[in-house]
Amino acid sequence: MADATERGARQRAGRRRTSQHESRRPVIGVSEPITALPGVGPKKAEQLEKLGIRNQGDLLFLWPRRHEDRTVITPLSEVQSGGDFTTAGRIGRADYDPRRQVLRVSVTDGLFVVYATFFHARWLTHQLQPGVMVVLSGHVEYWGNRLIMNHPHHEVLAPGEAPQRGLIPIYPLTADIKQRWLQQLMKQVIPILAPQVADLLPQELLNQERLISRGQALLHLHWPPSQEALEAARKRLVFDEFLRVSLAVMRMQQWDHGVAGIRQNPQGLLSQKFLTRLPYTLTPGQETAWRSIRQELAADRPMLRLLQGDVGSGKTILAILTILAAVDAGHQAAFMAPTELLAEQQWRVIKDLTASLPIEVGLLTGQDASQAARVRNGIADGSLEVVVGTQALLSPSVNFHHLGLVVIDEQHRFGVRQRAHLAQKGYFPDLLVMTATPIPRTLALTLYGDLNVSQIEGLPPGRQPITTVHLPYRERRTAYESVHQAVRRGEQAYVVCPLVNENEDQDVAAATVLAEGMRRVPGWRVGLLHGQLPGKEKTQIMEAFRAHEIDVLVATTIIEVGVDVANATVMVIEEADRFGLAQLHQLRGRIGRGTKAATCYLLADPKTEEGELRMAAMVRWSDGLKLAEQDLKIRGPGEILGLRQHGLSAFQLADPVRDLVLMEHVRQVAHDILESDPRLDHEGHQILKRWVDDGVASALPNQMLH
Ligand code: ADP
Ligand code: MG
Repeated sequence: MADATERGARQRAGRRRTSQHESRRPVIGVSEPITALPGVGPKKAEQLEKLGIRNQGDLLFLWPRRHEDRTVITPLSEVQSGGDFTTAGRIGRADYDPRRQVLRVSVTDGLFVVYATFFHARWLTHQLQPGVMVVLSGHVEYWGNRLIMNHPHHEVLAPGEAPQRGLIPIYPLTADIKQRWLQQLMKQVIPILAPQVADLLPQELLNQERLISRGQALLHLHWPPSQEALEAARKRLVFDEFLRVSLAVMRMQQWDHGVAGIRQNPQGLLSQKFLTRLPYTLTPGQETAWRSIRQELAADRPMLRLLQGDVGSGKTILAILTILAAVDAGHQAAFMAPTELLAEQQWRVIKDLTASLPIEVGLLTGQDASQAARVRNGIADGSLEVVVGTQALLSPSVNFHHLGLVVIDEQHRFGVRQRAHLAQKGYFPDLLVMTATPIPRTLALTLYGDLNVSQIEGLPPGRQPITTVHLPYRERRTAYESVHQAVRRGEQAYVVCPLVNENEDQDVAAATVLAEGMRRVPGWRVGLLHGQLPGKEKTQIMEAFRAHEIDVLVATTIIEVGVDVANATVMVIEEADRFGLAQLHQLRGRIGRGTKAATCYLLADPKTEEGELRMAAMVRWSDGLKLAEQDLKIRGPGEILGLRQHGLSAFQLADPVRDLVLMEHVRQVAHDILESDPRLDHEGHQILKRWVDDGVASALPNQMLH
């Protein structure tokens, strides 16, 4: 997303352009409306807005998900088994198997043939028909004596159209916007827009760090002339992302040093009552972690603590204890979850576990206006001691009476910007950040500043180990047979579909088709859950699953974190090799939460060695730390990285694992800048300062610094 500094630069540049070219259309300028471009009418503008595009400058920041290497298009005659190829030809046959939802096409130049297989492919049957010219990119293998590509990337060519050459950007899409159309739009405008962007960094720093200009980086990130140029562009923009967050966090810390901490009461009546009424005792791991948190809570310095504990290790109980320590000291506590679905679920858990205590726990979601107003009032007059919600808890309309603690659950979107929001309102609450995935120290420091870490070792007793089975697709029946048995026993199951297409709508379509198929199985009550459903519907479906009105829940990765239904004992993960290890581990953690034995089926015909290794690692290890270690060993470029989710919303381009060395270096650069110019007052730092402060303080939606 563009920010205000760049927006300002754009406005100026835009005005200049308009006055020079008053009568000429189209007008290309960073602050010009998108409708000033050829081929973009009101309808297209509306569709582009769904991708966050409001003016032309925003196009610069709609970054490609990846680039397809079309520098070489291999003729069908030269395609070989065992390699990755981009090739082109005409579709000869297209056979769709509706039962397995598999589409097989042959692609030919008249003499040579390559076959392509697509899974969950009903929606592709309209596009991929005999006679159509296609470009396919993917891995090629022998299947019998045929050369086949499994689920390759494909592009349909219009009649007479030649394949594009070079490194081709692949953009995120919505249903109504076609890849090719967007590429052509970008090709026209990016080369004009990119040079209009002001640089943030002084020239000496660029020289010293051997960085290209920001304008050139933006240009090459879309349309790189070579792989090296793409790397240089990426490096520059990643540098900027790290520098911005580092400077903001360090400036926040300058602020922190000036405030007195809040003293909580971890030995108070509420926590004691809570512990005696808890139906179980804390595990040794929970005890140890609680001891370290307790000490810091009692001290009067600001707490900034990371609580790490594997999926199912029981972090929620410690969160509640921490909350009670704040309430016992006369403060309010806020509990933030990453989604409304999880906020509701955690609210229910916290409410149930504290039912016998004299405290009020409120839920603030965006659903019901009058309800929300009531909760807001309770927060403002202090009658609500605890409130659970999403980031909306920090919006300007929410005013706490005396906020003393914020707990952030499985939440990686909280960072300096949210803290700055709170600080602006005069709150400097203690912070507890909970996570199941271990965060490298450098990343934690960059995102949150100097924080302490508590670790919960081990799991609560009585857990049945989860059996994990990797099945090739031809043995898919076994997995669904097991679902069937579970349903018969009165247990429940999850079926997880990957998000794999550039176009999210297509993924939802695939999940829908899968769910439709299952609805036909006698005796199965099937629910479908995905991110595009309205919030209310998501809640209802989750509710129905919890109440066992649904046996089989087909879902996208929306259920990845936190969802807790103990009667769910089987999980089937479709195309499991398309997930990263941490994600698979989180998903698997949704089952085996009770005392019944649980099984997780990974359906996959891995196309890469890493994919194969990931499946093997999942079968072998159930421990999150071990898997994180494996992840570092086996991940390849372009994989969904295990720890990526931590930075997901803080960084658009940076990969918090792959770029860890650069991150460390940029922290040093930020440190040096602030040492010589603590308030960024120097002449050469003006644009940089505005950029950092805008990201921190402005109310503009700003993806970069969440
Ligand atoms: P996570 O660390 O993944 O957030 P939760 O806090 O959701 O884990 O806990 C997982 C499950 O374990 C919950 O159902 C919770 O009630 C249970 N649990 C937590 N602590 C204990 C304990 N000490 N003994 C037994 N069960 C526990
Ligand atoms: Mg949890």
